[in-house]
Amino acid sequence: MYSDITNFIHQLYGTDDFVPLHAPLFIGNEKKYLNECIDTTFVSSVGKFVDRFEEEIAAYTGAKKVVVCVSGTNALHMAMMLVGVERDDEVLTQALTFIATCNAISYIGAHPVFIDVDKETLGLSPNAVKVWLQKNAEIKNNTCYNKNTSRRIKACVPMHTFGHPVKIDELAEICKEWHIELVEDAAESLGSFYKRQHTGTFGRVSAISFNGNKTITTGGGGMLLFQDEELGKLAKHLTTQAKVPHRWAFIHDHIGYNYRMPNINAALGCAQLENLERYVEDKRNTAERYKEFFANMPDITFFSEPADSRSNYWLNVVLLDDKASQQEFLEYTNDHGVMTRPVWELMNRLDMFKHCETDGLKNTEWLADRIVNIPSSVRLIK
Ligand SMILES: *Cc1c(COP(=O)(O)O)cnc(C)c1O
Repeated sequence: MYSDITNFIHQLYGTDDFVPLHAPLFIGNEKKYLNECIDTTFVSSVGKFVDRFEEEIAAYTGAKKVVVCVSGTNALHMAMMLVGVERDDEVLTQALTFIATCNAISYIGAHPVFIDVDKETLGLSPNAVKVWLQKNAEIKNNTCYNKNTSRRIKACVPMHTFGHPVKIDELAEICKEWHIELVEDAAESLGSFYKRQHTGTFGRVSAISFNGNKTITTGGGGMLLFQDEELGKLAKHLTTQAKVPHRWAFIHDHIGYNYRMPNINAALGCAQLENLERYVEDKRNTAERYKEFFANMPDITFFSEPADSRSNYWLNVVLLDDKASQQEFLEYTNDHGVMTRPVWELMNRLDMFKHCETDGLKNTEWLADRIVNIPSSVRLIK
């Protein structure tokens, strides 16, 4: 049975060689724009591609303001600061995520609280958040506190896992009711829409990543999305060393950060963005092919996009029957030239976060024993 799978994947990608999980693809104006940076010497913090990349992503996503960063991780760090997360605050998030979400919370000295995910989205469960808050939280002076720890619960960070949108409108509603700031970790979900609205435009601030394995890449890079233009302007200021504009004087009015994406990375991003829709269509077609193929395999379930959403299918997911089958699947495929991997080790199992509060994480634990990511690169179907 597993040989049928590796054969199918080799055939799908038209190769007998190793099939990676997600490889970047450069088929457009990448070289042209990079050469332009080199020819004009504008490779660093000055140049037209930064503004252009920000404007084009704003137009594509519908965000009011966009600020590019050096990485998705520092975009998340900045997002936490901008919504006012402070040392010893608590931040509600999922344990089923990439480490960067929790690192960003930790940079500030705040504490993640891990709430369960929904099986149908793989992302933070509105219902679980509501149940946990009703049991553990109270509101005093328009501020939400954890009754057990007395710490302020300042923010909530859902993640659109593998590009599949969470029920973000329900989460937004709950956050509003409990006076909690909503930050979307949309690192994986460029090109994914929920109820026809782009992911990352529901929260007060959101972060996207352009790391080499994401749907489009700038080499390394990230981006902040805002609905609030003033907050976006503040972000631009803080990510560029908080320098007060002046022709020659270097005056800074805040502790700033060197988080600005260089022009050469933005140039790559502009070229990649020109093909984003094509890539997403291609990835959705791959998902369709997987879905048909796995429909004939009773022991393996292909994970399809949740209701009301259009997913970019960044990384395709299959669910195995149990942990033993998951391990067998991983071993066979990786032994036979097909790269697959389980979901990231759950955050609550890592040394740095194992003392953090959780709600039991029933679905999270269930999914961690079953999820396997399978190759998902753009195939360039004709
Ligand atoms: C990729 C990713 C990030 C961070 O991105 P970098 O650009 O690599 O710093 C953050 N969160 C999630 C969920 C990611 O997948």
